[in-house]
Amino acid sequence: MAYDSNNIFARILRGEIPCKKVHEDQHTLAFHDIQPKAPVHVLVIPKGAYVSWDDFHERASDAEQAALSRAVGMVARLMGVAEGGYRVICNVGRDGLQEVPHLHLHVLGGRTLGRMIGKPD
Ligand code: AMP
Repeated sequence: MAYDSNNIFARILRGEIPCKKVHEDQHTLAFHDIQPKAPVHVLVIPKGAYVSWDDFHERASDAEQAALSRAVGMVARLMGVAEGGYRVICNVGRDGLQEVPHLHLHVLGGRTLGRMIGKPD
């Protein structure tokens, strides 16, 4: 999947469309998912133009990689789900049913989340 600089998250990063921000630092932005699948559903994204986890792993600096990891933990605590538990999901590519071609981690919690993997649609 190629990076499309007009994808919705690139537009959020450029300030062209709004988001409900939870956290921001030099390398990352976290904001509420527009169609939440759980009481807590926050997306954590790198600010750089990366499509997938493997693309990010290959090209991102150590500082960017550390920042993304740190941001996920910070969001879990900020949103109050660290104690009760939560799930971090990264959908990649065709088989992962990735919709937006800018790397994002879903942080979900606030209720029991059910089984990890459902049947294919
Ligand atoms: P994925 O299927 O992993 O690519 O997830 C994409 C996610 O982006 C979905 O959960 C959408 O609800 C979410 N999403 C799409 N547009 C927006 C937006 N403008 N603001 C916040 N979340 C969005």
